[in-house]
Amino acid sequence: MMGEQKPEVTFRDLIHGLRQLQLERNRPVISHVSLSSFGQVRGGAETVVGALLGVFDTLVMPTFTYKTMVIPESGPEDNAITYGSGKDTNRMAEFYRPNLPADRMMGMVAEAFRTRSGTLRGKHPILSFAGYRADGAINAQSLDDPLGPIGVLASQGGWVLLLGVDHTVNTSLHYAEKLAGRKQFVRWALTPDGVVECPGFPGCSDGFNAAEEWLEGITRRVTIGAAQVRALPLQDMINLVKDKISVDTQALLCDRPDCERCNAVRAVRV
Ligand SMILES: [Zn+2]
Repeated sequence: MMGEQKPEVTFRDLIHGLRQLQLERNRPVISHVSLSSFGQVRGGAETVVGALLGVFDTLVMPTFTYKTMVIPESGPEDNAITYGSGKDTNRMAEFYRPNLPADRMMGMVAEAFRTRSGTLRGKHPILSFAGYRADGAINAQSLDDPLGPIGVLASQGGWVLLLGVDHTVNTSLHYAEKLAGRKQFVRWALTPDGVVECPGFPGCSDGFNAAEEWLEGITRRVTIGAAQVRALPLQDMINLVKDKISVDTQALLCDRPDCERCNAVRAVRV
């Protein structure tokens, strides 16, 4: 729009805002970032990565790669997938390799972080994380335990940072679902070793914003530029959400009537 000026956010603004959260710098942080939420960031995604690493010693971001996924002709039942429906899309799938860019939906900051020197990228063909000084967390991931890094970060007293994004991208809530015993799924990915089965695949996160009010008491908030920034302690957040799901087995499911994964969770008889 003519005459409408987005605020420009500088490296100093980011450092200042992140410090206002008053997290200890030696606590690991898993962050989810929307670059455009700030307005205009001088220097772009690299500036945000630099500021995060300027304030926190240890940083992790999800660098998921859904373009590796393929749909087989058959598989386990009740898996929220239409077997055989991938005839066209399977041909477009890409082999996982450690330098495969993160999906666009992970955001430009996650991709800038992945390509930064000194960052370790995990090996999971769909649900990889990138980490800086977080080798223990990154290496805790396996095909059977894709959310293992979250558990390590939580045990280290880590925090989740939501920069201009909401809880629908808060991967760590999937870890709480898993701990609560919620149904997990199986997916398949293309790798140089062939198609591999990826169990422990989490459900849908479209309903995760319902957790916001439960978590209000442990949420720290600041504003940086036009972005709302939230920080939550992982262990407390996970425990709280796990307890809610244990009481209400349908908590945090989305309300799309055709959501295959949420419907599969609803169908589980307990
Ligand atoms: Zn859903």
